[in-house]
Amino acid sequence: MKTGQALVGGRWRDAAERFAVTDPATGETVAEVADCDGKLTTEAVDAAASALPGWRAMPAHQRAAIMRRAAELLTDRAEAIGAVMTAEQGKPLAEATGEVVAGADHLLWSAEETRRVYGETIPSTSTDTRIWLLPEPVGVVAAITPWNFPVSMITRKLGPALAAGCTVVLKPSELTPLSAIAVAECLTEAGFPPGVFNLVTTSRPQEFAETVMADSRVRKVSFTGSTAVGRQLIRQSADDVKRLSVELGGHAPVLVFPDADVTAAAAGVARAKFMNAGQACTSPNRIYVHESVAAEFTDELVRLAEAITVGNGMDPGVTMGPLIDDRALAKVRRHVEDALTHGARLATTRREGTGRLHPPTVLTGVTDDMLVCRQETFGPVAPILTFGAAEDADVVARANATPYGLAAYLWTRDLGRVVRVCEELQFGIVSVNGAPLAPPQGPFGGVKGSGYGREGGRHGVEDFVEYKYVNVGLG
Ligand code: NAD
Repeated sequence: MKTGQALVGGRWRDAAERFAVTDPATGETVAEVADCDGKLTTEAVDAAASALPGWRAMPAHQRAAIMRRAAELLTDRAEAIGAVMTAEQGKPLAEATGEVVAGADHLLWSAEETRRVYGETIPSTSTDTRIWLLPEPVGVVAAITPWNFPVSMITRKLGPALAAGCTVVLKPSELTPLSAIAVAECLTEAGFPPGVFNLVTTSRPQEFAETVMADSRVRKVSFTGSTAVGRQLIRQSADDVKRLSVELGGHAPVLVFPDADVTAAAAGVARAKFMNAGQACTSPNRIYVHESVAAEFTDELVRLAEAITVGNGMDPGVTMGPLIDDRALAKVRRHVEDALTHGARLATTRREGTGRLHPPTVLTGVTDDMLVCRQETFGPVAPILTFGAAEDADVVARANATPYGLAAYLWTRDLGRVVRVCEELQFGIVSVNGAPLAPPQGPFGGVKGSGYGREGGRHGVEDFVEYKYVNVGLG
């Protein structure tokens, strides 16, 4: 069993207490990690505040070089870090390794963007004044990340924050601190000055949040997680008027129109749905298929679901791992039972797994009022609903009828329909015909109950920049 430490001001630190990290596949404790309290969190903020002037003043190309080096180290160690991730999160090793590579790419993209954090000049109304906009880092950032993508959720925040010249105190999920420690090791070796990046591992997220929210040196909190916690942070941020980005839950609709490439649509939905055992904020939650292609689509999705090998993510050949914990498993089961009780049918042959394994499941005859269509299931359940000869607008209205607004998927070969439907969908991200949702250059983020702020791309960096407006009189 390993032990893990926090990283504060460039030093690895133990805490008075430790908390256990569990392998979701076996239920065994795989490590014990420093359980930091509010005092250590404040020390991390001290370190980040002390490091801020030096980091923001360092020439952009030097900051970029350190970030690039960190991305290289992450890529070089992708498989080893992937194994750490599988041990604490459960996803198959190949998927975990792929996430580390993708996570490194976020850092690399931001490293390049470091050189392009430009200011502006604005035409003045008189000959003897000039107007400048000077980009400045927001300041010390506290980042809070979830367990479902334990590396890429971190680098997607870190990259743009560091590119903008901010320093960071990161609190990863208490379920997956080991992946965060592995990222911190890469950053340390890459040569970040002490205090630019600090890692606070803790099993007491509320204490961490209260500490950073009360500390006026922390100028921004960047959060990814559930809508319930997001709401709480929005309220807490009011007292000190802190900037906030909140990437929250989702309830993604998929629209498969009659002119779609049905085989490709089923393959795309299977990929998006069963990846990470359905534990993704962008996971398809309501699959609206035109009735003329519903049978063909369902057959293909069922075939792909049944080809998935469920098991311990460490075992070769396993393509879907366990759910994160017993509560998650119970929720998925509750959603399936509710759908079956209210008239849905099981299209897949159910093979109940042991432990926290849940079979990839396809449901047909689903209606919009069932629990699967109203709450985030966060599991490998694909609910199929149909739509008929009605106008596109009707199915788009059904897709929009959710408090969430993160991602939506659309399958059609009709360009006019692509344009019209994309314009009508109330979601922050739309994938058309299976195009990826989260490349590093894309501004990922939601609307409505899925939160605000963007991560990735130029807009992601701007979320960590303040523009100082200077109006200069020439005298
Ligand atoms: P969660 O909200 O329980 O936890 C997320 C993080 O918040 C963790 O680090 C946790 O320790 C911390 N936290 C918990 N309680 C807190 C509190 N009171 N104050 C401050 N921090 C607190 O969510 P989760 O179960 O880890 O993640 C799953 C959720 O995250 C899902 O709803 C999913 O849709 C969402 N998610 C969203 C995105 C996105 O980009 N929009 C990406 C991934 C996951």
